[in-house]
Amino acid sequence: MMIPWGRIESTVYWLTFVAGFIVVAIWESRRPQRDLSSAVTRRWSRHGIILYANMLVSVGLYRASPVIVALAMSHSRFGLLNKPWLPYPVRFIFALLLLDLARYGVHWSYHAVPFLWRFHYVHHSDPDFDLSSGVRAHPIEVALTQGSNLAAVAILAAPPAAVLAAELFSCAQGFFSHANASLPGWLEKPLRWMFVTPDMHRVHHSEEVQEQARNLGEIFPWWDHLFKTYLKAPAAGQDQMLFGIKGIQNDESLKLTFMLLHPFRHQPEEIALQETPVTQHD
Ligand SMILES: [Zn+2]
Repeated sequence: MMIPWGRIESTVYWLTFVAGFIVVAIWESRRPQRDLSSAVTRRWSRHGIILYANMLVSVGLYRASPVIVALAMSHSRFGLLNKPWLPYPVRFIFALLLLDLARYGVHWSYHAVPFLWRFHYVHHSDPDFDLSSGVRAHPIEVALTQGSNLAAVAILAAPPAAVLAAELFSCAQGFFSHANASLPGWLEKPLRWMFVTPDMHRVHHSEEVQEQARNLGEIFPWWDHLFKTYLKAPAAGQDQMLFGIKGIQNDESLKLTFMLLHPFRHQPEEIALQETPVTQHD
């Protein structure tokens, strides 16, 4: 029997999206970590419009989802993991790990390459940190991320079920890791050895450039440990740290015109900042 991958993917993806949004929204509204500088309705409506624009760009540009690409590659002779002698569980686990490693690498390049930073800057220019920060990205960044994700799926010939698992993890992490809430210490400490937690990812949204270059992982924290980009906590502390880009932490950065047009405006000083070497202080 043929597995209807396309239908399964869209159904479970949206279920995960809605469930992830609702669970994190309830969590952070009941126990917010920090006060927000703008009204939640204003933040969520602006970021919701950006999310909608990004979905149109992503679907319209590629017309093929990661699982459909994986399905096409599974019938091909090519692909790093398309080896009949590799047991399926090994291919599944390797695919999940390598797809997350690829996302880490792409995120690293967004911070290291000035041209790419122009677009990723929009994600970081959020003056607050809550679940809606997770969907705030420039459409060109979304197009580049989705293109590199599809390329990684094709190069690996990752099993469709592993690609689906990676997509669902990534969707849930988009909300969870940007939660304006903290897990209790007894749970947070062990969990951050397995998954990127809100306390870990919050460091990455610091206004301090050196801290922005840390905690780049999306699903698993292991790449940050392996490549020495892990930082346990921000220097100013979780309750005092400031978010966003220094000098533009105001309501202006919630405007749609700012989020869409800023990458095309000249910003030499912001790019120069990215060339500051990262110092270890954890
Ligand atoms: Zn980043």
